[in-house]
Amino acid sequence: MRKFITIVESLNEAPITDYDYIPDENGTAFNDSDKKLLNNPKTKTKMIKAFEKTPFDIEVTFIDNQNIKTSDLEKNDDFKNILNRNLGIHSDEITLFGHKFTPKDNTITVVMTGNVSVASNKIPMTPWTLAHKIGHSFEDSFQNIDTDTANIVRLLQNSIETKLTQHNLSMRSARTGNIESGEMLSELIAQYLITGKATILPYGLLTPNDAQEYENNLNRLIKKLLDYAVGKIIVEI
Ligand SMILES: [Zn+2]
Repeated sequence: MRKFITIVESLNEAPITDYDYIPDENGTAFNDSDKKLLNNPKTKTKMIKAFEKTPFDIEVTFIDNQNIKTSDLEKNDDFKNILNRNLGIHSDEITLFGHKFTPKDNTITVVMTGNVSVASNKIPMTPWTLAHKIGHSFEDSFQNIDTDTANIVRLLQNSIETKLTQHNLSMRSARTGNIESGEMLSELIAQYLITGKATILPYGLLTPNDAQEYENNLNRLIKKLLDYAVGKIIVEI
């Protein structure tokens, strides 16, 4: 019944082992170009390479659900209910669309249930998109993360949105002026995962010293968030 695109891989350290894709003709939560992308053996190599610098072991599974089409996601209540219950970070085993996921020691287990964003369905599932979505999972997790971790997320959200502008950020979305409001934290977490470090540039109110200090604190807190996710399961859409 259910179809899975699976890239189960310890992105940080392991050589390439499995790449498993079961095609689905009936339409899914990934659009055609994502399915092509995820179905391409080169993609796995690219994904793993892109996450080489992250100091965490991350295993990713893309669940492709044949009963859900990308275009239906907004209106599909079953899907929304399942995800409203499950989005976020889980300490215990969970079952999604009939597939069981178990947390693993020393590993951040990521389950991507689709590739949908408020802005557009056309953002391809690149390594950066995946990293960005991992960033969002902390913001989606207030129901099921501990208070300290939720406080870090709140602190970062407030601080980033009030103290920084996109001119303080260095990733492509910032350089091209395309960061939407509320997207800076997940972009910074993405940058941390992909480059090993979030970068803050001096601009506006931030002197070079301020920027350096901000960057140090930010990286420390992002690391804390990711440390929290180790041994747990992140579910994102
Ligand atoms: Zn986003």
